[in-house]
Amino acid sequence: MRNLTIMAVATALSVLACACDRNKEQGDFKYCVDEFADIGVIKYQIPDWESLSLQEKEYVYYLAEAAKFGRDIIWAQNYEYNLPIRKALETIIKKYDGAREGEPWEQFMVYAKRVFFSNGIHHHYGEHKFFPECDRDYMVELFRACGLDGDSLIEIIYNPDIAPVRKYQGTEKDIIVASANHLYEGVTQAEAEKFYADMEDPDDPHPISYGLNSRLIKDADGNLVELKYTTDGLYGEALTKICENLEKAAQVAQNDVQKQTIADLVDYFRTGDLRTWDKYNIEWADDTISRVDFINGFIEVYGDPLGLKGNFEAMVNFKDIEASRRTEIISANAQWFEDNSPIDDRFKKAKVKGVSAKVINAAVIAGDTYPSTAIGINLPNADWIRKEHGSKSVTIANITEAYDKASLEKPNSALAEFAWDDAERTRIKKYGYITSNLHTDLHECLGHGSGQLLEGTNPNALKEYSSTLEEARADLFALYYLADPKLIELGLLTDPEAYKAEYDSYIRNGIFTQFTRIELGKQNTEAHMQNRKLIADWCFEKGAADNVIEMKTRDGKTYFVINDYDALRGLFADLLAEIQRIKSEGDYAAGRELVEKYAVNIDPYLHKEVLERYAALGLKPYRGFVNPSIVPVEKKGKVVDYRIEYCDDFVAQQLEYGDKYATL
Ligand SMILES: [Zn+2]
Repeated sequence: MRNLTIMAVATALSVLACACDRNKEQGDFKYCVDEFADIGVIKYQIPDWESLSLQEKEYVYYLAEAAKFGRDIIWAQNYEYNLPIRKALETIIKKYDGAREGEPWEQFMVYAKRVFFSNGIHHHYGEHKFFPECDRDYMVELFRACGLDGDSLIEIIYNPDIAPVRKYQGTEKDIIVASANHLYEGVTQAEAEKFYADMEDPDDPHPISYGLNSRLIKDADGNLVELKYTTDGLYGEALTKICENLEKAAQVAQNDVQKQTIADLVDYFRTGDLRTWDKYNIEWADDTISRVDFINGFIEVYGDPLGLKGNFEAMVNFKDIEASRRTEIISANAQWFEDNSPIDDRFKKAKVKGVSAKVINAAVIAGDTYPSTAIGINLPNADWIRKEHGSKSVTIANITEAYDKASLEKPNSALAEFAWDDAERTRIKKYGYITSNLHTDLHECLGHGSGQLLEGTNPNALKEYSSTLEEARADLFALYYLADPKLIELGLLTDPEAYKAEYDSYIRNGIFTQFTRIELGKQNTEAHMQNRKLIADWCFEKGAADNVIEMKTRDGKTYFVINDYDALRGLFADLLAEIQRIKSEGDYAAGRELVEKYAVNIDPYLHKEVLERYAALGLKPYRGFVNPSIVPVEKKGKVVDYRIEYCDDFVAQQLEYGDKYATL
């Protein structure tokens, strides 16, 4: 459900890899910017920029500045020594006057780019620390040549025993002590849990997000104290610049709602008061009229092993009016979809409260959502606000488009390798983009919100299996309806066969190609990946007698081919009905059985094969972005316009941000 970060994972998965055929261009816009290690960097366009008024552009400009001024916060949150290390790397890149080509320098640059991409020295997705390929003596030479006193930093960079993982997820150690991120200091898991349990008021129907905006430390007397993230507290310099730019934005806001929302956000950054944060979130969720929108703050809690502390992230966006028509149609018909869902009537909502749905284009991404980002937003996170005030769910069109177009820039794509035949490839090229967007829309706008619990069912009954089952439910809802004639009737698709593109991609990915992102021998643990495997494997098994999905081999390579799309749709319906029953009744045992049986264990032979075939393609499993620059155009000392400039140099943008937005 909910958030940005999770969807970033989904994206990297569904659209495989950047692909830089540097000679080929689509129009005059080339999406691929850089490739290194396991990363591809691409750029996105801001369509319709010229349709904004000067005042709207100015509003976006200051919100974007506010977003970028938070950059150092996420670096500091990720690990205590990330900022000094980044600054040293920046200095070396700018100053080193020795040989700047050949192996050790290039290895150094790959390391620097990886650090930039991950906002620190730990892998942005895998959480583990990564290491430079150039040897330590060379790094010492670089530091010395640039006048840097770096012995302790170099020790941190090279010593595998120092801060090995950003967020520890094992069971053997204390998950806070063993995590390198800097959300706690000198505190154990038990101490932190007790601290927040004592703070909670179980009778409060509107609980604040305890611990969201602070680092928990132990003071000299051994007492636990929260260091709040405020303009005169922790990260104060960054938050002050954020507030300055938010206030400049407020001066050119489009309406009073925006002005009030910004005033509350600024107030929250100054006081750290989490009730104000909730007030801001309610106003933000209610504001569905403003064309320009943004998020800025401590939002997602995935970085924290206890799931309390928010990572800084920000994004500025504006509504894509044409594309929004699609989700408006879906939302307007929410009740029809609910009524016709293939689940037991007892589990249907008599009245569906549709989430507001629009398609947006990002104008800047920042903090934890840069360079690796999401394809959608579904916020706020507080359950009670979602229940009482609703939430905003958006698809970020220019980001999904950039992923898609970047993939097409390369001839040896994953699609060419893993699809069975030309018919499948052609259909995906023709309809893959729209059906994948529709899948996301149905999943986000309707899937999560559909269905209801039976009275008396504990909403937390599915415990550790709840995320996987919830994602599976939303995906199944989307998959089932993608093939429905209703979508043609509503004008969302024109070809009744188009949905097959998404069915092919989904099954191939869920059962096989998504495991390119998991190390051989490891289990499938991430909720979205589990949900896809659960659905694909379950349908493969249940349809085996009728050969609904067939495992074929050709030249020693495995393919998964759908023989009967109608029957597959029927299986999606059956599984949706069952997972809805599990959720509505809180049937923990059945939920556990599904996840454990179908979602966790990867066939080692298939896994090995997919890794080898994928490696042979030379594609990158993770992708992220450079931002376009929004540049004020001055005439006679007055800003008369804001121009968009596209960046083709990942390192240059990192250095620019390092100069302009360094605050901590
Ligand atoms: Zn979801």
